[in-house]
Amino acid sequence: MNPIVYSMFKNKCPRCHQGDVFVNHKPFSRQFDQMHTHCSNCELKYEKEPGFFYGAMYVSYAMMVAVFVTLWVLNIWIFHLDSVPFIFLVLGGIVGLMTMVFRGARLLWMNFFIRYNKELDNNDINIKV
Ligand SMILES: [Zn+2]
Repeated sequence: MNPIVYSMFKNKCPRCHQGDVFVNHKPFSRQFDQMHTHCSNCELKYEKEPGFFYGAMYVSYAMMVAVFVTLWVLNIWIFHLDSVPFIFLVLGGIVGLMTMVFRGARLLWMNFFIRYNKELDNNDINIKV
């Protein structure tokens, strides 16, 4: 699996793929936004500098546009809703996916700047041999 995709979907440190980034694994929990400050395995500081995660808002915006376009295409092909029901469908989609997009955007933003280092991944089969 692609290292960026793995880190995003498994909630793992972008550098070593061992430590968790978010405290709670469930994206729909009350503490969905609580993050560890450092990786428990490689000690990577997740917030590289103050305000580092402001950039993740741009990623989040792009992801929400993707949600909107997906719902718009689905509406044209399948749902055939009028304007007002479509607006409620979009609002439902955006609110429903808000926590997942928040976490995915932060993980993707970190992966833009931090490369996966295979030598720090303790579960890597090449290291164990
Ligand atoms: Zn790490």
